[in-house]
Amino acid sequence: MTEQVHDVAIIGGGVCGTALLYLLSEYTDVQNIALIEKYDDVAKVNSHGRNNSQTLHCGDIETNYTLEKAAKVKAAAEMVVNYTETLAQRDKVIFKYPKMVLGVGEKECQQLRERFETFKTVFTTMQLLEKEQIAEIEPNVIMVDGKMREEPCVALAVLDEYSAVDFHQLAQSFVGEANKRQDKAISLFLNNQVEEIVENGGVFSIMTTDKVIKAKTVVVSAGGHSLLLAQQMGYGLEFSCLPVAGSFYFTPPLLNGKVYTVQNDKLPFAAVHGDPDVLVDGKTRFGPTALLLPMLERYNSKTFIEFLRVLKLDRRVFKVFWDLFKVSDIRNYIFKNFLFEVPGLRRWLFMKDARKIVPSLKLEDVTFAKGFGGVRPQLIDKKSAKLMLGEAKINPGTGIVFNMTPSPGATSCLENAELDMRFVVERLGASIDEARLKQTLHK
Ligand SMILES: Cc1cc2nc3c(=O)[nH]c(=O)nc-3n(C[C@H](O)[C@H](O)[C@H](O)COP(=O)(O)OP(=O)(O)OC[C@H]3O[C@@H](n4cnc5c(N)ncnc54)[C@H](O)[C@@H]3O)c2cc1C
Repeated sequence: MTEQVHDVAIIGGGVCGTALLYLLSEYTDVQNIALIEKYDDVAKVNSHGRNNSQTLHCGDIETNYTLEKAAKVKAAAEMVVNYTETLAQRDKVIFKYPKMVLGVGEKECQQLRERFETFKTVFTTMQLLEKEQIAEIEPNVIMVDGKMREEPCVALAVLDEYSAVDFHQLAQSFVGEANKRQDKAISLFLNNQVEEIVENGGVFSIMTTDKVIKAKTVVVSAGGHSLLLAQQMGYGLEFSCLPVAGSFYFTPPLLNGKVYTVQNDKLPFAAVHGDPDVLVDGKTRFGPTALLLPMLERYNSKTFIEFLRVLKLDRRVFKVFWDLFKVSDIRNYIFKNFLFEVPGLRRWLFMKDARKIVPSLKLEDVTFAKGFGGVRPQLIDKKSAKLMLGEAKINPGTGIVFNMTPSPGATSCLENAELDMRFVVERLGASIDEARLKQTLHK
């Protein structure tokens, strides 16, 4: 029997890998697609609803985004909304909550008022809310003991749009939809950890724990492990990886929707927010924190060694750490985030931050969300000695690409998968049903 060579193998069954599986099966004539995942189900790592903030980032309430970045993220988020339109189980995947970014104090209020004037041209449903209007939607944000909090507050809000996603359910739906295609050969290799990839004569041999899977093209969407697999092949050696974990805290139900805070420009990671948890009924979840953690996967100590392998500590990596530590806001933030993990102290410290959102929050209301929170694999570009924010792709031009997708990578899953679909199709000389793609995902 001749050995099967798949047209494409996707390594990593998170929301990004499964989005690509869906696009290839639905919009191209690529016939033979393999998805390889090390766990027994898809989206068990960062794409699981427990491990991320479940936010469909649209660019309207993220004050660290420029208008240009916000418009790009909006288009990516719309692809997700459009995709879910025809899903039978849509209400398990995507959710409507009011969302807002809250400004507290004169400076932040002024910043949001100015932002509103620029952003309302792109975000036409965005509203500027004054204190009384915020109180109508989120009473606990404004009211303390029956009186309005004293500081000036305004919010930029979008009240009736999809704002939350269970990315685990989304990933499962991608696989479900792909499997409906009777005309395609789709192979799902679960419980198969990829240990090595070797390229020989234009064919990739993917060595997993118990088999060898062959493919003409490969897309690796394995979170921080993408860099590890790239570097094993001699690619992406100019990068190092800084894993930034995020933890969460639960309180009783205090918020009706998503309430974000204004980003401190000096801090590279998103500001704390609070929102209802789509997985845990009757709780508000606050977070995430930003903890530098020497592991590629949260709660998996085996990934410490893998972290050391991708860290590749040298003078240039030290320079990035030093540059971060030199800025007092970042230094204090890093220390504070370590303290956020210290039992006993953490609830009290976190409560102080979360009181910016709910001023009446009490210590007894706050519990650490044990087992929740993932890791953002932030890349360090050693050549420029800079911490890279956002997504990164390594394409050595040999028929394989490697994706690293920190936040808002889950929101951009279809946008990023479209780039990879185009890469695969070009490599294989296959074609895309552009008209249907435009009608359905880009309408
Ligand atoms: C705290 C936190 C909050 C976040 N909040 C948001 C948010 O609100 N909105 C948003 O859009 N994004 C958010 N993100 C980012 C988002 O979670 C990620 O961008 C997204 O989940 C990345 O998807 P992925 O498929 O690339 O990676 P993952 O979901 O990590 O999937 C990678 C997959 O690869 C598999 N794998 C790894 N190594 C191997 C191997 N060797 N062999 C086989 N399989 C392998 C893993 O098991 C896993 O299933 C957040 C991230 C964090 C950490």
